[in-house]
Amino acid sequence: MGIKMPKANYFNEEITIEEARNNGITTNLFCVCCNAPISYVGPFKRIYGDNKVSIVRDYFKLANTYTHDENCKYNTEGRVKIIARDSDEILKSIDNGKYNFRMNLIATSLKKLRREQVDNESKNTLSDDVNKPKSKEYESNGKLNSYLSTMNKILILRSEIEENKELSTLVQLEFGAESISWNRFYYSTDDHIKCFKYVNGNNIKHPVCIEGKIKVIKEPTEKFKYHSVVLTRPYIDKEDEDGFKRIPAVEVVVYNQSTVDYIKAEVEKGNDQIAFYSFITVKENIYGENIKYLNIKGSIFHKKQVHVYSL
Ligand SMILES: [Zn+2]
Repeated sequence: MGIKMPKANYFNEEITIEEARNNGITTNLFCVCCNAPISYVGPFKRIYGDNKVSIVRDYFKLANTYTHDENCKYNTEGRVKIIARDSDEILKSIDNGKYNFRMNLIATSLKKLRREQVDNESKNTLSDDVNKPKSKEYESNGKLNSYLSTMNKILILRSEIEENKELSTLVQLEFGAESISWNRFYYSTDDHIKCFKYVNGNNIKHPVCIEGKIKVIKEPTEKFKYHSVVLTRPYIDKEDEDGFKRIPAVEVVVYNQSTVDYIKAEVEKGNDQIAFYSFITVKENIYGENIKYLNIKGSIFHKKQVHVYSL
């Protein structure tokens, strides 16, 4: 449990994860910030659909049954508390150190961005609209920004944690009157099929988060004038009972140039993992005799919807 850590204290000296790995150090490790006992988690291999193997890096994590000090920077609860403080009440403290996250405000913000995008496009084709005054709806951009930043901070925090479990005990996701479980909301690299199944045929009205490895950034074409980020497909070795191999394929269209620039710059630095939140559409495509592609499509209108990092 807890946030993954790149450093540890070992007999009063700070060591990096590389030093621990190279010297086989797996015990007597403590948090550099609060001295809580921590343990070493070795690297593991992940095979992707193109048969490329990538190594998921090793890290330090809190040893079982221990907790970080309240003020430690690796304390998840502390991080949530800080995010909530600047969140314009979208992340709200309730009882017993728990928080409510009002997802409908994120959904509304994303819809607003989508509308602005559509308006911008029609502006470009209908020159008459250029001088049209902006409607009132577009005025509360301050709130919109703090909602999107709060969601972005949650996205970053979650990408630093191993699994949904810990955040789900701290943050309750609320969508209108409904409560949404974290496993329905946040999909890591191995969960893309689950994401497809959840959205497919269920009329899902809330955004979801998807993590994965960037395969390629597609340049605009004459037919389609936006960039999109294609994620590496997972390796699926077995067919389902009906004889079809189901392969999830995630692609996210990026409608704004500053976000494209940000993603490209990060990829250039060697960061190839992406996490984003977005409304999702899904579609199944049959390919050949026995393959079904489970297409999952997202859309990015704002840089705060994206986090690019490395494992
Ligand atoms: Zn600590």
